[in-house]
Amino acid sequence: MSDAPAIRYRLLPADPGAHLFEVTCTVADPDPDGQTFSLPAWTPGSYMVRDFARHVLRLRATSGGDAVAVEKTDKQTWRCAPCAGPLDVVYEVYAWELSVRAAHLDTTHGYFNGTSVFLRPAGREARSCILDIQPPEGTDYRGWRVATSMQRRQAAPHGYGTYRADDYEDLVDHPVEMGDYALVRFEACHVPHEVVVSGRHWADLDRVCRDLKRICEHHIRFFGEPAPVERYVFLIMAVGDGYGGLEHRASCSLLCSRDSLPRAGEPAISDDYRDFLGLCSHEYFHTWNVKRITPAVFTPYDLRQEVHTRLLWAFEGITSYYDELALVRAGLIDADSYLELLGRVSTRVWRGQGRFKQSVADSSFDAWTKFYKQDENAPNAIVSYYTKGALVSLALDLTIRRGTHGNRTLDDVMRALWERYGKTGAGVPEQAVEQTAEEVTGLSLAPFFEGALRGTEDLPLAELMADVGVGFALRSAESQDDKGGKPAQGDPDKPRAVLGVRSTPEAGGCKLTHVFDDGAAQRSGLAAGDVIVAVNGVRVGAGKLDSIIARCPVQETVTVHAFRRDELMKFEVALQAAPSDTCVLSLLEEADAPTLARRAAWLSGARV
Ligand code: ZN
Repeated sequence: MSDAPAIRYRLLPADPGAHLFEVTCTVADPDPDGQTFSLPAWTPGSYMVRDFARHVLRLRATSGGDAVAVEKTDKQTWRCAPCAGPLDVVYEVYAWELSVRAAHLDTTHGYFNGTSVFLRPAGREARSCILDIQPPEGTDYRGWRVATSMQRRQAAPHGYGTYRADDYEDLVDHPVEMGDYALVRFEACHVPHEVVVSGRHWADLDRVCRDLKRICEHHIRFFGEPAPVERYVFLIMAVGDGYGGLEHRASCSLLCSRDSLPRAGEPAISDDYRDFLGLCSHEYFHTWNVKRITPAVFTPYDLRQEVHTRLLWAFEGITSYYDELALVRAGLIDADSYLELLGRVSTRVWRGQGRFKQSVADSSFDAWTKFYKQDENAPNAIVSYYTKGALVSLALDLTIRRGTHGNRTLDDVMRALWERYGKTGAGVPEQAVEQTAEEVTGLSLAPFFEGALRGTEDLPLAELMADVGVGFALRSAESQDDKGGKPAQGDPDKPRAVLGVRSTPEAGGCKLTHVFDDGAAQRSGLAAGDVIVAVNGVRVGAGKLDSIIARCPVQETVTVHAFRRDELMKFEVALQAAPSDTCVLSLLEEADAPTLARRAAWLSGARV
């Protein structure tokens, strides 16, 4: 294999104003029967068919200067006529999606995931790849540099030139940022890390480095040194409004609001910055959990079509559990702040009736068509393998701690998964997380997993959290913006009237985005998409629906006028009291010494 010629790629930001990359793929020894090329339908870590090939334009092939006939055989596959080679395939990629999953090019910067731009030559996926990244033409782009975790071949650090990848899967697992970005560096456990920030911002990047260093060192030590990477890159796009992340083997891409980044002289951790650090922690944890401890069905990834696994609760849910727990274990936030975050996650689960209809195992399996394609009925129909997966992980951790008197924890299970699968590169079979947990702890966890993963009943969090001296209480939401995690600000005993909806301001009223099962609105015939314009004959101002209803007595029947499409309709709505779906976690002050010791062990990651 090592003697086989590498697949060569050349990428040029040919026309930033038109958002066009020009890409050339050269195969020295094409398939004598005709070389086939395809572009992935999806990108690892984001489980939705995105059909990146829809952005490929003007694809043509040549060999030795002569045109080679190309036939498209399906939505993402091209077949070249037989030729002796070398075979050059040249095409343009339209790049105008500002997300961590795709490609984006304009006169301010370029960003791409390999899955959006690099054709895969069939039968030659295991070949090494050489990527030549070219600068855009013109003096406007003189300040641009290149940031990526891909190995450099003949390129200066942050320079244009050639980079190399072990194979196609490696090639598409190192996103690239090009532009006049901010760059800061830090070391975590002797591993160099880079933080690359594009987009306008005024962040105190030295502080970001200090905080990220603590998170990275926590994760490296959690799984054990040495870190599995020689170098790591955080690629951050700061925008006005946005949130997202995608993990890669030696980097991650993050999209965040510039206001979530701290400015110089700000000592406190704002809620938004705490969320940003949680996002970084999440993607960095994936360096182990999913990028190396990987479901067997993803080894290798079949990027042509959906690949189903019931394990996303483990790869996303366990990661979601540790991303925030690591913030308190690393000393970045205190226990109260952590419990507020956990209360918010719990609230997101408790707010959806879909949790009684879909298990997290099924949510994982159907991620492609349900979680990633959420519609107005999502809260009634599905449960998130992120949020409920995080609570399952919490419940599993507490169950293990209880059953082993603190001698084993979920941390031990994760380290065992790392030893067995992460270090060896063996894929994780569908039953292996459950089996490993039982083997590591010596506990019979089958009843737990049956209920937590394949059942739809609420997890016994109140009872489990009492073990570590944490109270778990439910209250009603105080407004549509109440995210939970904090005690009630007003009178907790005064019931608040609700319609059982979520709404968004709309010109002339409020548009219902979600109508909850068995809520007052649904029972009266109101539907998602309806625009409520009046309550009891009085106009509803944009964004005022929630507060107008809250002022009505519970059990009152109100007359609601709403437009469904262009038809005015009238509804008699018997209001309901706001349900107890908002979770508040708190440190129990009266806990005894053994309980406090268990709490300290849980929050610090130390042994009892
Ligand atoms: Zn994730």
